[in-house]
Order: sequence, then structure tokens, then C-alpha cells
Amino acid sequence: MDADQLVRLKATCSLADQYVAAVLHTRSRKLLDHGLRSYDAFVAILAHTRAVVGGIAALYLLFPYHGRPPFVDVFVPDDTYDEFMGYLLFEEGFSFTRVEPGSVEEEQEDEVVRGDHEQGGFCINLVRSTSTSALLPITSELHTALFNYVTPHGFCSAYTGFNRLRRALLNPVRLDDDYLPPKFLRPAFAAWARNGWDLNLVPIAFPDAGRCRGVQSIACASATRHFGDRHCTFGRIAPIRLRYLEPRLEDDRDDPVTVVWWRGGVTCAATCHSGSRHLAPGARMCLRTVAETS
Ligand SMILES: [Zn+2]
Repeated sequence: MDADQLVRLKATCSLADQYVAAVLHTRSRKLLDHGLRSYDAFVAILAHTRAVVGGIAALYLLFPYHGRPPFVDVFVPDDTYDEFMGYLLFEEGFSFTRVEPGSVEEEQEDEVVRGDHEQGGFCINLVRSTSTSALLPITSELHTALFNYVTPHGFCSAYTGFNRLRRALLNPVRLDDDYLPPKFLRPAFAAWARNGWDLNLVPIAFPDAGRCRGVQSIACASATRHFGDRHCTFGRIAPIRLRYLEPRLEDDRDDPVTVVWWRGGVTCAATCHSGSRHLAPGARMCLRTVAETS
């Protein structure tokens, strides 16, 4: 079952609510447990530092039919990064190396290091956010299939319908001036295509795309999105009956700050955004109440 199916099932009854929590917990444990000394302590430090599992690992947790990832991407807020890194170094026995120039991450503003567990066979990519929100660097991911995250409290997928169909839209922030992947990124894009993903620049390139609704659409270059908006598949993990045991936020939606982004790039037509055909991509932290009312 994927994220959308899990959310629908959760809403049916309390037994289903508990079942969905068990499914997500088991999925997460199977992904992480074999590579860690203490899975429970890892989850606790994720919650404590407000870090999130994102990228291809979150895609697997929410859409497991896309296959198990070879590594786990963890996004960490700037202010808690040193604490999280220290935990992995000294409590878990990871050794970290900065990702070398020429690799996929070379032009990201966010700091990326790759950590290998001393026991071998388990790799974590640690992405340091430039802000106090772990979610901000997710908006710089290669394409929309990676705009997902999972926390100890909840999960969010921003492009669920595309993910289910193995469709993804390229992120203009990672492309060159001609909207083509730079040379060092081409192997990564080719790997996704080999795995059956249909990668495009504009949503109207997909079959049965329908008419674009501009700013209100899910994926137009002009669409203004935030994590938790009406296009997202958003859910809690803990079942209602056990929610009183959660020590911090009951729900990621209770966090007063979220991240707003607009993919930018080429609009579908002149009607998408006041006649503009090219829009600069962007993202910023935003008060959730502001994002929800704008
Ligand atoms: Zn459009």
C-alpha cells in the first residue's frame, strides 16, 4: 500500500488506524534497523533534532513498490546539524566524508556528507539545511518524485499521483539555462529513466494531463505549493489511541513553520501566470497560517 492508500485506510476505523501505524513502523524498521546499533535511539534523535528522512528513502517508505533504496537521505536543520552528526559519529560509529566535487550534489548550496556505518553495508547521506527547517533542501531535489519526507510523527508526499505512475517533473533549479541536466547530473537522470520513470519539464507533457490551472495546479511552473497543502498526501503515524504518548508535536501540521516553493521553469501556456513563459524557481520558509491563506 502506498501513502494515499494508507491515509484512506486510516480514516476507516480505529483498527485500521493502528494497522497503518504498524505498517509504516515495520517498513521503517526493515529499512533502517539492520544498519544501526539502536533503531529506537535513531528515531529519538531524529525527533529531537527535527530531522527528516527524505529523498529516495522516503519515496520507498511511502511507495514501496518503487524498490528499496541503496542509501538513506536525512535532512537536518542548520541549528541541530552538529548534534545529529555527533550522534552518528560517536554513538553509532559512522564515518563521514564530504561528497566529492563532480558528484550529483556538487552544486547544491546545502552541505552534503556521506556516512558509512563501521559495520559496513549501510550508508546515510546527511544534508544540512541552510535554515532551521529540514524541509527547505527537499525543494532542491532533482525532481518531484523526491519531494517526500517521513518523520517520527508523520509523513508527506507532494506529488502522490505522479509518483504512483512513475512520472516526475524535473526541478529547474538543478538544470542549466536551456533546461537540460548538466553533464554531471545526466547519469542520475538516466538511472531514473532506466527504472521506468517518465521525466518531463512540464506537466502537460504527460498523457491525459488536461488543462492547466496555473497557480492553483499541482505541478505547473507557476504553482505555489507548501508541505501540507491540499495537493499533498499528509498523515500522522501514531494511531489516535496512542497519540497521548507522543512527547512533542502531535502532528507535523502543528509546526507553525512550513516551506513554500514554486518549481519555476517553463509554463504550460501564457495563461498560466499573467503571460509569463519562464519563471525563476524559488523556495522559502513561511508561517503555515500565511501559506494556507495566500
Ligand atoms: Zn501551467
